[in-house]
Amino acid sequence: MTLNPDLERERAQASFTPEKLTNLLDGSAAKTARRHQLEDIIAKDPTGIFSNDDNYYLHRTERHVRSLAKAVRLIEICRQLGIGNENNNNNENGMMVASEDWSVLMYALADDLPLALHWIMFVPNIKSLCDEEQQAQWLPLCRDWRMIGCYAQTEIGHGSNVRALETTATFLPESRGGDKGGSFMIHSPTITSYKAWPGTLGRNANHAMVIARLIDGEGVDRGVHNFLVPLRSMKDHTMLPGVETGDLGPKIGYNTMDNGFACFKNVVIPRRNMAMRFANVDEHGHYSKKQVSDAASKISYITMMQVRAHIADNAGKALAKACTIVIRYSAVRRQGYSDSDEATENQILDYRQQQHRLFPLLANSYCFFFTGKVLLKNLKAIENRLLTNQPVNKVQVADIHASSSALKSYTTMITADGIEDCRKACGGHGFLQASGLPELFTTYLQNPTVEGDNHMLPQQVVKVLLKVVQAVQSKNKKALAAYKTCDAGHLIPSLQSILGGRLDKCDASCKEDLLELPTLLQALCHRAARLLLGAAKLVQDKIKEGKTAEQAWNDGLVEMARTSRAYSQFLLLQNFIRGIDDEENQSTVGPAEIAVLRDMARLSALFWMEKDLGDFLEDGYLTAKQASWVRANVLTMLYVIRPNAVALVDSWDYSDFCLRSVLGRWDGDVYPALLESCRRDPLNANEIGPGYEEHLKRLIVDGVGAYTPTTSRL
Ligand SMILES: Cc1cc2nc3c(=O)[nH]c(=O)nc-3n(C[C@H](O)[C@H](O)[C@H](O)COP(=O)(O)OP(=O)(O)OC[C@H]3O[C@@H](n4cnc5c(N)ncnc54)[C@H](O)[C@@H]3O)c2cc1C
Repeated sequence: MTLNPDLERERAQASFTPEKLTNLLDGSAAKTARRHQLEDIIAKDPTGIFSNDDNYYLHRTERHVRSLAKAVRLIEICRQLGIGNENNNNNENGMMVASEDWSVLMYALADDLPLALHWIMFVPNIKSLCDEEQQAQWLPLCRDWRMIGCYAQTEIGHGSNVRALETTATFLPESRGGDKGGSFMIHSPTITSYKAWPGTLGRNANHAMVIARLIDGEGVDRGVHNFLVPLRSMKDHTMLPGVETGDLGPKIGYNTMDNGFACFKNVVIPRRNMAMRFANVDEHGHYSKKQVSDAASKISYITMMQVRAHIADNAGKALAKACTIVIRYSAVRRQGYSDSDEATENQILDYRQQQHRLFPLLANSYCFFFTGKVLLKNLKAIENRLLTNQPVNKVQVADIHASSSALKSYTTMITADGIEDCRKACGGHGFLQASGLPELFTTYLQNPTVEGDNHMLPQQVVKVLLKVVQAVQSKNKKALAAYKTCDAGHLIPSLQSILGGRLDKCDASCKEDLLELPTLLQALCHRAARLLLGAAKLVQDKIKEGKTAEQAWNDGLVEMARTSRAYSQFLLLQNFIRGIDDEENQSTVGPAEIAVLRDMARLSALFWMEKDLGDFLEDGYLTAKQASWVRANVLTMLYVIRPNAVALVDSWDYSDFCLRSVLGRWDGDVYPALLESCRRDPLNANEIGPGYEEHLKRLIVDGVGAYTPTTSRL
C-alpha cells in the first residue's frame, strides 16, 4: 500500500504511540486484538453481505432489506461461533446481545440494523418490568429470535408528555368476551393515539411492548402501563386481527430502520400480557400495586438510565469517527500558498481556523470516552449493590439520573452539531455521500431526540440539583452528607461560598495558570453552581411577582438549559482529569500518552470557556485580562496539538471498512478513491445518461426549446 506522504510525515512526527492509546480506548491490548478479530469476521464474511460499498446508491427499500439480511447473517454467525453462549451472568447464557462481543460487532458493521430495538428496548423492558413467570415465558423466545419486539410508547399526538398517551388497555372479563381469567382489549381511540416512531415496529417486529392507559374492571383509569401485544403471526408474519402497522416513510437519516406506526382496533390479549412486576390486575379486574423491594423498583429505573449512559458513551465514538475523516483529509488536502513559497500549497490542517473548528471536537471525543466509562461503571456498581441487597440511597440514584440526563443531552448535542461541522470543514467534497459524513450526521441526528428530548432533560437535571441547593440553604448536615459520594456533591463548596456572600474569583495570576487543569475545573464548577442558583432565583422571583409555579418554571427553562450544559461540562472535565490520573497511576500508558490526553483535557475546558466567556465575566469570576488569557491559551493549545492531530485520530483505530469514506482513508489516497466512487454510481453506468432518450434528446436533437420570436400567448 502506498501511503500519502503528508500522512506519512504526520504519523512520523507524533510525540506518542497511537497503539497505546488504542489499547486504552479498547480496555486492553487483548481487547484490541479481539476487536480486530471480530472486525475481520464482518469484513471477510464469504457471503459479502456486510459490504457497504453500494450503500449510497441503494434505494431506501433495498437498503432496508439489505440491512435486514445483515442482521440475520450476523445472528447466524454468532450462533455458529457461540458468541454469547456463556455470559458473565449465567441467566443470560445464549443471549448473544448480552455479550461484549455483540456491541463490538455492531460497531464493526458500520451500518444500522432494523432489528435493533429488539435488544435495545424490548428485551430490557421485559427484564425490568415483567415478573419472573413472564420472563421465563418470553425471554427464551427473544433469545431464539422467534419473538422479535419493539417498544411502542410514542403516539402521533404525544411524545414527551407520557401521561397524556391515549391508547387504552381495558380489562375484559370472561363474561364480556375475555379469555378465561380475563383479557385486555388494546385500542387506539383517536388518530392522535396511533403509535408513531417505534423502531422495528413498521415491518419487522412480531410483538410490541405497548404503553397504554390501563382501565381496570371497575372502569377506573390507572394511568399508563406496559402490555405485550402480539402484532404478527410467528408462523407467517401476517398481521393479527385488529392490528395495522407500517413504516413511517423516508427520514432525514437512519433509513435502514423501519420506524413505524401502529393502530389497534379492539385487539384482545391475555390478561397476563400486562407487565406485572410492579402492578397486578386479577381475574376480576381488581387493580393493585405490588409490594416489591425498594431495590427491585430502583433496578428498573437503572435500566432506563443505562440506555442514556450508552448513548453518552457512543457520542464520543461517533464524534471520533467524524474527526478521523476530516483530520486525515485536512492533512492531505492542500489549498493556498504561503508567502515564502508558491511551489507547494499549505495543508489545510495548518490553518488556525481549521484547527479551531476541529481540535476541540477531537478533544471532546476523548473527553466523552472517559465520561461514558464512568457513567456505565457507576450504574453497574449501583446495579450490583441492589442485586446483592446492599444499601443504595435515593440521593445516589437521583444523582446518577441527573448526571446521565445532563450528559446524554450535552454529549449528543455536541456530537450532532460536531459531525456537521466536520462535514462543512471538508469543503465541497464533504457534501458527497462518499465522504461518509452526510450519512454519519443524518443517522446520528436521532440521538438528541430519543430517550428524552435534549431540551426536556435539563428540567430533570435542575430538579435534582435544586435539592442540593435546599440542603446547602438549610445547612442540614445529614442532608449534605448524603451527597458525599455524589456528582452533585462537588457543587456544594461553591454553592456554600456563593450563598455565603463571598465573591469567588479565579486565582490565575498569569496566562500559564489558566492551563492548569484544577484551575479550569474550579472555574467550571463555580460557573455551574452560580448558574444553578441563578435559575433557582429566577423561578422564585417569578413566583414572588405573582406567577404560578408552572409559569415561573416555564420562565426558568432557558436558564435551566444553560445550567445543565454548564454542569455537564464540569462533570466531563472532572471525569476526564480523574480518568487520566487513574491511567497514569495504573501505568496503562506511558508519560507521552498521558501528556497528550492532558492536552485534550485542557483544550476541551478552554474551548468551552471561550465559547461562554460571558458566563465567567458576568459575576466577575474572571477579569477581562483573565478572559483574554483563555482565548490566548486556546490558540496555544492549537499549536501544541497540531503535530499529534493525525496520530490522535489514528488512535481511535477506525478501519476503512468502518469509516466508509473516500476522504478519511488510512492511506490518504483520496482523489483516486473519490473518482472510483463516482464511477460506481449507477447514474454513470452507461456512456449516455438514463434520461437522454426520453427527455434530453427532445431538447438537443428535436429542438423543443428552440426560440421562435413571437409575442406572449398567455
Ligand atoms: C429516530 C427516532 C426513533 C424513535 N424510536 C422510538 C421508539 O423506539 N419507541 C418510541 O416509543 N418512541 C420512539 N421515538 C419517539 C421519541 O421518543 C420522541 O420523538 C421523543 O420522545 C420526543 O417526543 P415528540 O416527538 O412527541 O416531541 P414533542 O414532545 O412534541 O416535543 C417537541 C418539542 O417541544 C419541546 N417540549 C415538549 N414538551 C415540553 C415541556 N414540557 N417543556 C419544554 N419543552 C417541551 C421539546 O423539547 C421538543 O423540542 C423515536 C423518535 C425518533 C426520531
